[in-house]
Amino acid sequence: MKLSKDSLASRNNAIPQPDRHSALLLVDLQNDFFPGGTLSIPEAEVIIPTINRYIRHFSRNGWPILATRDWHPPNHCSFHEQQGPQPNHCVQGSRGAQFHSELVLPPGMMVISKGTHPKKDSSSCFEESSLEERLEDFGTNTLFILGLGASECLKKTVADACRLKFKTVILTDAVKTGLQTPAHSTDYFQDLVKMGGVLSLAEDLDIPTP
Ligand code: ZN
Repeated sequence: MKLSKDSLASRNNAIPQPDRHSALLLVDLQNDFFPGGTLSIPEAEVIIPTINRYIRHFSRNGWPILATRDWHPPNHCSFHEQQGPQPNHCVQGSRGAQFHSELVLPPGMMVISKGTHPKKDSSSCFEESSLEERLEDFGTNTLFILGLGASECLKKTVADACRLKFKTVILTDAVKTGLQTPAHSTDYFQDLVKMGGVLSLAEDLDIPTP
């Protein structure tokens, strides 16, 4: 959901600009969350060109890019077959678990797997993953987040990032939540601001157009 520049300006006094202490976090850009997948978000593919713009900008500047992925064993506890709430999705090694083929992912991109244990599901990308350690290794203090929020994952990731004292910027023009109405979507983004997140668009970050 794209928020208007005015609505952003009224909520955010200062949008941090990315620098060498920043990292770009791509959340769950996997086939199963795009149309045709088992947990698909309608029209999720429309944000791919914008995502590629952010990736190119970080990549050209040599700033870290990390991609999270659901990476479930076939008997994962979140699946219906195990009395979980979701259909099978992002099974390790399956096509549904692969990143969308139209993404231009840089060589050297770090992949963070989550939900790898049959009995544990991670609601945030920080849970049961190496994300926090990797960000510490990079010396990251500002995290720019984009991606797909089919479940609560993106929201909980923002909550954890803020709790862990990262400056947390949500790139709203590169996020799809799957929420049905603009009002729901506005509420969703307002919740992220309440948690301490900052909302931003590509035009706020001085990112060159292709
Ligand atoms: Zn999952």
